[in-house]
Amino acid sequence: MSFQLVCNHKNCLKPISNVGWVTACLHIFCEDHGKQLKLRWESMTCPACGTHFEEEFAINERVVNPSKEFKSSDLLGLKPDIVLQIASNAINFWTHQCSLQMKMMRHKLDQYRSTLITTKSELEKNKESYDNMIRKIHTKLYDANKRIRQLSLEVSEKDRQIIKFQRTRCGFCS
Ligand SMILES: [Zn+2]
Ligand SMILES: [Zn+2]
Repeated sequence: MSFQLVCNHKNCLKPISNVGWVTACLHIFCEDHGKQLKLRWESMTCPACGTHFEEEFAINERVVNPSKEFKSSDLLGLKPDIVLQIASNAINFWTHQCSLQMKMMRHKLDQYRSTLITTKSELEKNKESYDNMIRKIHTKLYDANKRIRQLSLEVSEKDRQIIKFQRTRCGFCS
């Protein structure tokens, strides 16, 4: 999958496929977030880095997927050093966006890792508590079986005594 620009607003991250709003601090925002920033630039700071916008033109609308006509004619007439300067600025912006996305992905990965470690430790704790519970149940079962065996012996003994008593009584009767 090729790299794609996304809105730098941390709660948005919407892919920018056609139009984006680029700031002087090298951030880009989707149409919704960009328009809000442009309208209230004086009272707002960049949602990605907190920079105060010095002027209205610190945030500008940019077509990120220009037409064939734009590509074939928009830089015509400019001196090569100016064209190179524009290209260099555009590449710097692109590189900056790539490293930003990598940073965001690393941050997400760290969050996933930390969730995994917490979940694993909770599962281990739960397993330990269930193991203890199972051990206690086994002990109770063992004690109950022992008691049943004792009671069966006592019942057998009582039966034996009853039979003996009945025989003795019959002996007196006859
Ligand atoms: Zn956005
Ligand atoms: Zn910024």
